[in-house]
Amino acid sequence: MSDYQKFLPEGIPDSHLPFWDSLREHQARVQRCDDCGTYRYIPKELCPRCHSDRATWTAVSGAGEVYTYTVVRRAPTPAYQADVPYVLAHVTMAEGFRMIARLTGTEPEAVRIGMPVVIGYEDVTPEWTLLAFRPASPAAQPAQTQPAQTQPAQTQPAQTRGEATGS
Ligand SMILES: [Zn+2]
Repeated sequence: MSDYQKFLPEGIPDSHLPFWDSLREHQARVQRCDDCGTYRYIPKELCPRCHSDRATWTAVSGAGEVYTYTVVRRAPTPAYQADVPYVLAHVTMAEGFRMIARLTGTEPEAVRIGMPVVIGYEDVTPEWTLLAFRPASPAAQPAQTQPAQTQPAQTQPAQTRGEATGS
């Protein structure tokens, strides 16, 4: 047993497992219709667009943009309450489907509709990897809220660049 205190997708239908397997591999895959190319985040036996029963689990880019979001201040359990305030984002993926997940790596005040985000993978237990979005651009993160990173990039010691090119 893990001491992970938050929700895990245990007990989900077998038809959903390929998605969670893909998260463990850090390469999200989503069902895609073989006939019309529509991606569907929620697995289905028939394509809702063309009614084809042929589909393939297909790797996605991981890129998307915030469609809408909510800031959680009263969490469902004590484990989540320790994290408030946090952001749940409804994201339109580059492939056209939408997913809801937590948006990390940014302050709630910095989140904007249309903000570019990417999938991040969180290995929370040996069995489960969860998905969280993070800003696609580091510039979207408010540096002033992270005291350890208040130094502008150009003030970093020159030897950092020397090491990077030293091979
Ligand atoms: Zn289809």
